[in-house]
Amino acid sequence: MTPPVPAGGWVEIDGRAITYNVRTIRAALGSQVEFCAVVKADAYGHGIDIVAPLLAASQVDMIGVASNEDAAAVRTSGFTGRLMRVRPAGRDEVDDGIRFGIEEWIGGAEHAGIVSGVAAARGTRIRAHLSLNSTGLSRDGLEVSSPHGVRVARGVLADPLLDTVGICSHFPCEDEADVVAGSARFDAQSRAVLDGPAANAVARHCATTFAALHAPESRFDLARIGAGIYGDTDALGGALRPAMRVVSRIAAINSYPRGSTVGYDRWHRLDAEARLALIPLGYADGFHRSLSGTGEVLVRGERARIVDRIAMNGFLVDVSHIAGAAPGDEVVLFGAQHDQAITSADVARAHGSIAADLYVAWGRLLPRRAVGDPGAARVAGAAGAAGPAG
Ligand SMILES: *Cc1c(COP(=O)(O)O)cnc(C)c1O
Repeated sequence: MTPPVPAGGWVEIDGRAITYNVRTIRAALGSQVEFCAVVKADAYGHGIDIVAPLLAASQVDMIGVASNEDAAAVRTSGFTGRLMRVRPAGRDEVDDGIRFGIEEWIGGAEHAGIVSGVAAARGTRIRAHLSLNSTGLSRDGLEVSSPHGVRVARGVLADPLLDTVGICSHFPCEDEADVVAGSARFDAQSRAVLDGPAANAVARHCATTFAALHAPESRFDLARIGAGIYGDTDALGGALRPAMRVVSRIAAINSYPRGSTVGYDRWHRLDAEARLALIPLGYADGFHRSLSGTGEVLVRGERARIVDRIAMNGFLVDVSHIAGAAPGDEVVLFGAQHDQAITSADVARAHGSIAADLYVAWGRLLPRRAVGDPGAARVAGAAGAAGPAG
């Protein structure tokens, strides 16, 4: 497998896995629930240019974005369907977002005024989703636990410059009991706010991947699915497939005697002679120093531990136990090699936080290429302006 440009490492995105995951989730959600595929942060580092054409071909109902850059990339991919922003945006962002037809996430009464002000200045209406704090994230939702809160929310709904098509919330925890309780509060509070003839025209939504796939009562009219598309979930009995692989090659191998200290700050001391392989990636590439001494990679289908303190452009793994390991060998830092895999759970354990915290950066910092889907390039070409025919 050759990288798109000669580089210390690269990211491979398996289009077949993404298509499979979308179909599997679509089937799990059932026909009554709309599917909003979330591609914020350049599709969680997987590349909107690769992912959006696959989503369009899979007929998701809607795409969720954060930045206008995400929205531009989705439109460039040829997707003409609905776009929802999954966070509140600033005045200039909302104004610029009109050209992409973004439905804005309303994150409070004052924020509603900002979005409404943009609509007024532009002489248009803006489609909007009003966020409630029913789930208790206390980030951008209106607190509607009091009659006053309900009145404020109804005031936003009555704003003639906002075409409020959705009412939403966002869960703080990936915990089933928490999601079930939050869903019940969202059900009651959204009903209280929407009480009236217009209620049926407003979609209610709060579910993420975890919520939608673990607690069906969280689905309401629409689910906002990010992680599941990329295979970063153990929901559905682990049926979904990780779509990203992060790959490098061994740059150099040396044997060092017992007692040697290894890496910056003399981070590690060898208690026996060891063969250490240099991997030409470091914290400049998103390999956070938290992985020092704890992360693992795959070489020749075997696990090798990171032994030194990760440097800006390199780190060392111990390959003493891997017969024949040599410079130029493929190294897998995330994903599968032979019958082994470095999983999201492995990365989370080593890093001490969720894997997305790292793989979003890997995907955005390293060169990226689509693999495993001969149809992907054709689909992208068909959707784009200047792609090859057929
Ligand atoms: C990122 C995000 C999602 C998707 O969450 P996943 O857990 O990745 O499925 C949904 N809603 C909002 C508001 C988000 O920010």
